[in-house]
Amino acid sequence: MLAAVLYGKEQLRVEPVAVPRAGPKDILVKVRVALTCGTDLKVFRRGYHARMIQPPAVLGHELSGDIVEVGSEVTRFRPGQRVVAANSAPCGVCFFCRRDKENLCEDLLFNNGAYAEYVRIPGPIVDCNTHEIPANLGYREAAMVEPLACVLRGLDESNVRPGDTLTVIGLGPIGLMFVRMAKLMGARVIAIGRRRAQLERAEQMGAAELVLSPRAALPVEEVKGLTDGRRGSDVVIEAVGSPHTWRAAVAIVRSGGTVNFFGGCPNSSQVCLDTSRIHYSEITLKSSFHHTPRHIRRALEVICEDRIHAGRFVIDEAPLSGLLEVFRKMMSHNGHLKTAILPWRDSSPDETGP
Ligand SMILES: [Zn+2]
Ligand SMILES: [Zn+2]
Repeated sequence: MLAAVLYGKEQLRVEPVAVPRAGPKDILVKVRVALTCGTDLKVFRRGYHARMIQPPAVLGHELSGDIVEVGSEVTRFRPGQRVVAANSAPCGVCFFCRRDKENLCEDLLFNNGAYAEYVRIPGPIVDCNTHEIPANLGYREAAMVEPLACVLRGLDESNVRPGDTLTVIGLGPIGLMFVRMAKLMGARVIAIGRRRAQLERAEQMGAAELVLSPRAALPVEEVKGLTDGRRGSDVVIEAVGSPHTWRAAVAIVRSGGTVNFFGGCPNSSQVCLDTSRIHYSEITLKSSFHHTPRHIRRALEVICEDRIHAGRFVIDEAPLSGLLEVFRKMMSHNGHLKTAILPWRDSSPDETGP
């Protein structure tokens, strides 16, 4: 089969490799859609991810497809089913799993390999994080489950109440999902982005206020001026992952409010924070990472009900052989949303499903 193998820093080759074998508890999925994601791009540029992937390995983690083979011990699934599988599975028994923090599982199993014609889904992911795609849902929309689950969990952690003003810094796919879901929760959303096209998308997703901020320094006072009594935002979501926007998020939140540092900064980044502001203004600082099986299930429901308009996030498509070109485009243009990589595009016409 054809697969995109990561060998190291910016070394990715689309080449023939052996089709993975499904063990007794695994399933083998014919990949219909693999979505590009900022994390894959980060891994591509860095050449590895300490927890998620060590080269050489097939890259890609947001996928949907058809089951072509099930292991002898698999009872929940059968060949021919359309499925979406998440990129990880918690162990279910460790300290964190027993405390509803499966995202922090001490033995979190990660799976990559979506940028390929076939991917093996390991038993633990088959058991708790693989779902049949309802008949009314396309492969592209279904593949959005994983990033949306991270966003839903981020919102659960952020103390959002109806009527709150919630500010989102950074309007990539994740930031836009926050805009949309916060709006549906009854929040008034302020969206801050670097490009006009991003602000237009945020408006379509329900943002009430748009702030263009092309430079590194965020217009903190302008944003506070958009909040009740200029007090600041009840909740701030940082969805960029850079030290200066982490600091700006703390400057924008109101007394007693919550900041969620959702964007992970480059390794060993340091941020200086004003301790008296955090203490005397009782600011809650959170940082959400990853998802849990419960959020994966909820994400699929939200997508099925078309509340997130998942299709709008996938703005382009390419065959597997075009993946490098897509990554280069993403690197030179941070306004990019998601591209559907279609490993079978040139061989079967019905790859996008219903
Ligand atoms: Zn992702
Ligand atoms: Zn665990």
